[in-house]
Amino acid sequence: MNFNLAVVAGDGIGPEVMEQNIRVLDKIGEKFGHSFKYEHVLGGGCAIDKFGEPLPQHTIDVCKASDSVLLGAVGGWQWDTLPGDKRPERALLGLRGALGLYANLRPATLHEALKDACPLKPELVADGVDIMVVRELTGGMYFGEKGRKQTELGEAAYDVEQYSVKEVERITRTAFEIARKRKKHVTNVDKQNVLESSRLWRSVVLEVAKDYPDVELDHLYVDNASMQLIMRPTTFDVIVTGNIFGDILSDEASQMTGSIGMLPSASLGEGSLGMYEPVHGSAPDIAGKNIANPIATILSGAMMLKYSFGLQDESKAIEDAVAKVLNNGYRTGDIMSEGMKQLGCKEMADAILAEI
Ligand code: NAD
Repeated sequence: MNFNLAVVAGDGIGPEVMEQNIRVLDKIGEKFGHSFKYEHVLGGGCAIDKFGEPLPQHTIDVCKASDSVLLGAVGGWQWDTLPGDKRPERALLGLRGALGLYANLRPATLHEALKDACPLKPELVADGVDIMVVRELTGGMYFGEKGRKQTELGEAAYDVEQYSVKEVERITRTAFEIARKRKKHVTNVDKQNVLESSRLWRSVVLEVAKDYPDVELDHLYVDNASMQLIMRPTTFDVIVTGNIFGDILSDEASQMTGSIGMLPSASLGEGSLGMYEPVHGSAPDIAGKNIANPIATILSGAMMLKYSFGLQDESKAIEDAVAKVLNNGYRTGDIMSEGMKQLGCKEMADAILAEI
């Protein structure tokens, strides 16, 4: 198969880790008989420097016309004093909006070889952590009506949490479809004992679940979910939740995995086009030194193969290669521990390529 990929490498370590991602994808193409064509476009700080705006229309057009988008990271101290709507990070929100990406997938997987890096007691993670947080990305109070008003108690501010049936239905379907490819277990997280928006959310989840009798469904209130995640992390499979709850819970879950340099993510919409990026930022403190961990970005490439193109074996080949390299004791600086062998960014990708 042939795929056209838009590449927004971005700023800081973005271009370094993206280069390694592309090498790995090319190797997969060679091995499994696919070809990937890359169109590099500017987004973030580098686009501000060249065009005066973080997300030029040309970048949006190329991304829209692609089969999927690979993103490195954007941002850096050079652009920190710009006003909010001119900052590099606008490129992320702008692309998600322009591409209609409403589902954010954040896996939290604790690799066997990195169990020591997990802050939880060993017995709590002995059975392995493998959680997929499916977070609604374009609704809820982050996008609801907001403002200020005078009240009896003086000035007040508000952000409205609102969800439509359609918004809940599509994110729930995404979660159930993903669960079908995993352990067939969805945990819905809401706060329906207090919030009307959560009551609607829960009723839609229950309705959609009828179409997935093969998938087990349970429900947790968000406060309880945050406790259960650290008390019994190995019992979760897919978590589906709204924007703000997902923002918080996905960060909590991610801490079990050792380093931000290990965490990929995907943003999906109605079609197969998705945007795949590491969770970390542009790490200006280590940019250009060949010490960044490329694994998060390489695993986001693996997610693209699985979720946008349905290439399960190809995706697994990358995941298995990463696991083998870690089992063989190779580490980048961020996940380094005693007795292991430290590699640079490019050398880590070399080791992964050798295993593929
Ligand atoms: P960051 O994720 O860039 O870095 C946090 C810490 O983690 C740093 O010490 C960094 O060196 C380390 N780190 C991050 N990725 C690493 C990797 N792959 N390998 C090894 N170490 C790694 O977060 P920050 O410092 O808060 O933000 C830096 C810039 O990135 C800011 O401009 C911020 O706005 C931006 N940012 C962008 C994104 C994105 O593009 N999706 C996300 C978060 C932050």
